[in-house]
Amino acid sequence: MKKRGACELCLRTDIEQTVHHLIPREEGGALLEKAMLCIPCHKQIHALYSNRELAIRLHTIEALQADEKIQSYLRWIKKQPSTVLTKVKKSKTR
Ligand SMILES: [Zn+2]
Ligand SMILES: [Zn+2]
Repeated sequence: MKKRGACELCLRTDIEQTVHHLIPREEGGALLEKAMLCIPCHKQIHALYSNRELAIRLHTIEALQADEKIQSYLRWIKKQPSTVLTKVKKSKTR
């Protein structure tokens, strides 16, 4: 079942939400606070940071939003439409 709503990180609305454990389950955060994120934000966070880093330093949305490494991504994603982000970018047929 897909849940739609706003992403807490990029703040786009009407996106498909996924649950992010602010302290990763691997670091003991299974029952702790969660955030609802869109799929690209969620993937980006885990691509940029290790579970340890998330648990120690980036366990709030505010900390994530303020982190230097994610700034360029956030600027980019905010311009993307909230409708389906296609996985594969097709080369322009022209
Ligand atoms: Zn997002
Ligand atoms: Zn996550």
